[in-house]
Amino acid sequence: MKIYNTLTKTKEEFVPLEEGKVKMYVCGPTVYNLIHIGNARPMIVFDTVRRYMEYKGYEVNYVSNFTDVDDKIIKKAVEEGVDSSVISNRYIEECKKDMEALNVKPATTHPLATNEIEGMVDMISTLIRKKYAYPAQDGTVYYRTRSFQGYGKLSHKNLDDLQGGNRSLLVSGEEQKEDPLDFVLWKPRKAGEPAWHSPWCDGRPGWHIECSVMSKRYLGEEIDIHAGGEDLVFPHHENEIAQSEAANGKNFAKYWMHNAFLNIDNKKMSKSAGNFFTVRDISEKYDLQVLRFFMLSAHYRSPLNFSADLMEAAKNGLERIVTAAERLKELTGKAAGEQLSDNEKSLLAEAENYKKKYELAMEDDFNTADAISAIFELVKFINTQVSEESSKPFAEALYSMLFTMADICGLILEKKKEILDEEIENLIQERQQARKDKNFARADEIRNQLLEQGILLEDTREGVKWKRA
Ligand code: AMP
Ligand code: ZN
Repeated sequence: MKIYNTLTKTKEEFVPLEEGKVKMYVCGPTVYNLIHIGNARPMIVFDTVRRYMEYKGYEVNYVSNFTDVDDKIIKKAVEEGVDSSVISNRYIEECKKDMEALNVKPATTHPLATNEIEGMVDMISTLIRKKYAYPAQDGTVYYRTRSFQGYGKLSHKNLDDLQGGNRSLLVSGEEQKEDPLDFVLWKPRKAGEPAWHSPWCDGRPGWHIECSVMSKRYLGEEIDIHAGGEDLVFPHHENEIAQSEAANGKNFAKYWMHNAFLNIDNKKMSKSAGNFFTVRDISEKYDLQVLRFFMLSAHYRSPLNFSADLMEAAKNGLERIVTAAERLKELTGKAAGEQLSDNEKSLLAEAENYKKKYELAMEDDFNTADAISAIFELVKFINTQVSEESSKPFAEALYSMLFTMADICGLILEKKKEILDEEIENLIQERQQARKDKNFARADEIRNQLLEQGILLEDTREGVKWKRA
């Protein structure tokens, strides 16, 4: 299995640190809003990497954090007049719902930065002790960037170029730095902000130290894969390397994987630019399986432009795969023959080639675009070679092959059952009764159940109205 490593800029053979095991850390979202579909790209891509590794028999310890202390979270909390944990908890829950709908497996551990402050204070203390960091007058702790020999090795940047670029960017507080390149590990509290005790001042951690600490706590000092979007290469991942390697005295991650951006009109989708769709927006129009399929139709290191046309194409493509699977199931149920014929045996051997093709694509730095082409070839084969005369084991074997190939991509082959109008009316009546009985828990449960099936309820003066989202 080959992985493109940002560190070496080459595709390398994957050799795990420990046989049969993969330790993988994926930088998660900052939770101050619903996630947008750009944020969903690393989730889907690296979940697929994980699924493929599991398919190969690796035990994958997959850690992905939530950044739950951050300026943007604090800003939103101030706007709403609530504690910042109210904001972060709300959007962690919403993010988990989106992940489930995208069929992204829950991580082995989803650590929260605010639960790991002790470890951060520890690591910062170690860095100070080893002279890689220093506290300034006001209690801010900075990392002494030039003291780390390997600084720039991930982003392939040269320290002196960085120095030149940074000079014009001096902002307040910078004057207490020994060097403009130094970055913050701990910062003093401002009024109204969440803060924790530390030997330097009451305050909060910088963003980069969070991941170094959570990765160490849940995966150990050396890990196999560290991943995230390509905007994280510099400075986030570069700083993580500087922190972890200086503190632990070991290599941090063996392979660094970065997905390219999801764009709109060839510009990065981002909340700050305002050119984004949330996963929730998309779920109003499409089953999120379509979004997942769309994301995997490109290689993860290629930029991907979001468009209505491509989503429609993804919808049709997925439909073709699901229809072939449904047909196989139906034929399995009806099939009379219990034995593979000789012809079927040789056809199955032929079908194995599509699976091999699929695996070769995945082995080549997770080329899901080519892997999906192999799925389509198998679908075409199924559509032409399976009929009412086929034997049961033949239809079953092909179903199992198709299922495995789809499942590694996290694609679900079952057609969603459409909820009938009558069932909706019955549930609405039950909800009205529950409300009369003051059983609000049940009433909410019904509302949510309907929502999950894409049915929106509206309480109007003329009674409850509903529509399909
Ligand atoms: P953030 O919440 O901005 O820290 O982002 C969480 C994850 O989403 C990071 O791995 C980012 O690199 C990734 N990400 C953000 N925007 C995009 C985008 N437009 N395309 C692909 N990945 C993105
Ligand atoms: Zn991170």
